[in-house]
Amino acid sequence: MKRLSLRIEVFLLVFIVGVLPAMLITSGVLSLYASRSVRSDVTNITNEATLLANQIVTSGYLSDTTQESMNTRFMSIGNAYDGRVMVIDANLKVVKDTYGADEGRTIVWSSVLNSLSGVSGSYYDQENSCITVTVPITTYTEEDEQEVVGVLLLTKSTDYITQNTIFFKDVVLEIMLIIGVASSVLGIIMARRFTEPLHRISKSIEDVQNGVVDEVSVKDFSETREISKKFNGFANQMRAVDDSRQEFVSNVSHELKTPLTSMKVLADSLNGMEDAPVELYKEFMQDIGNEIDRETKIINDLLSLVKLDKSGAALNISPVNVNDLMEVLLKRLKPIAEKQKVELVLESFRPVTAEVDEVKFSLAIMNLVENGIKYNEEGGYVHVSVNSDHQYLFIRVKDSGMGIPEDSLEHIFDRFYRVDKSHSREIGGTGLGLAITKNCILMHHGEIKVHSILGQGTTFDVRVPLSYIEKEA
Ligand code: ADP
Repeated sequence: MKRLSLRIEVFLLVFIVGVLPAMLITSGVLSLYASRSVRSDVTNITNEATLLANQIVTSGYLSDTTQESMNTRFMSIGNAYDGRVMVIDANLKVVKDTYGADEGRTIVWSSVLNSLSGVSGSYYDQENSCITVTVPITTYTEEDEQEVVGVLLLTKSTDYITQNTIFFKDVVLEIMLIIGVASSVLGIIMARRFTEPLHRISKSIEDVQNGVVDEVSVKDFSETREISKKFNGFANQMRAVDDSRQEFVSNVSHELKTPLTSMKVLADSLNGMEDAPVELYKEFMQDIGNEIDRETKIINDLLSLVKLDKSGAALNISPVNVNDLMEVLLKRLKPIAEKQKVELVLESFRPVTAEVDEVKFSLAIMNLVENGIKYNEEGGYVHVSVNSDHQYLFIRVKDSGMGIPEDSLEHIFDRFYRVDKSHSREIGGTGLGLAITKNCILMHHGEIKVHSILGQGTTFDVRVPLSYIEKEA
């Protein structure tokens, strides 16, 4: 369904709220006026007719219809009512009709017949604008019993009700016109008042997009303030993402350039030397080979990170015996540890099976253990322990190495962050290992914490749910 604009909806709402009740009230009041007028007329005419019926009896009019005083009275009532007075005797014969039309005729109107049986009646003929009232003319017999000797029929024109109604309608129409105009003006003002801040928000968002302003600030209503706040939060988030992407790209370029620069320097210096000894060639070529290895490692780490960044789509979850896995991983790292003269110990508190992606989980733990060995000293140790409760798998990697300065702790999971660049480079670090580890752990909905004392050692604590639960995107 096509939606109306908010401005039109607000305008229509105000207009309808203004005009509709006025229309309903007016038509209600007019019909109330008409029915009340008819009711009060009926009461008055019935009273008058009852009085007149009594006079007909006391004056003996039915036996002498030529009585001047009564006839004059009938005429004057007829004139006053702009209607008709009829006197009908017990034989349904019209003995007096102020219109003269039906005098002498017999009429069998149901209202007359009703009244002849002793009941008063009234009828409002809206079409012809008149009220007709019939009352019985009653006397008392010698036995003191009531006897109907005729019927008195009075009609009264209700033209005045129609005329008043028409007059009121005209007045009301004028008032409605004023209300309509006022509602329209109010509607336009209200519509503008409500939609104008929204237009400003939309314009501000456009300005933020085009870099004209930094934030949206429309404080007219608490709702627009809230939208502004939410949008600014979102915009800042996007900026942060953009900044970190740019930083990442510049870091990547820098990191990839460094080995190339070294190689270029090595090659240039060899080229620049006349009759360089073979030993020097060999040494420099060895260095160039190391730089190529380094470049390859950086590229491999970057590829791992990029793959992980595809938001966990490729997790290959299966139940894994963590104790066995750890044993295999440590066995793989044993030669490096031995080379560094670092003791590698695995401690399994209990058998643990967890639902993980074996390859990615191994990558995460390998990086931690490798760091424990790399940033250690001769004669040091790396202790790896495996434990669990009913919900989580816990892995602790504790080393007796050089430790991490406190102010670096919050950065070590950042891409390319290294506490000591030259030292890390020397031992083949890329600064991507912990970023990869953290990503892997987060993909498993786990948590990683670090605790370190400079000069004493570092402990990484990993916690991963035993059962992998797919989270909704
Ligand atoms: P790198 O490839 O340089 O080791 P990582 O991301 O694995 O990169 O680690 C980032 C930095 O954190 C390292 O350069 C190092 O300075 C520091 N670090 C990581 N693990 C340890 C550890 N076990 N002991 C001391 N420092 C560590």
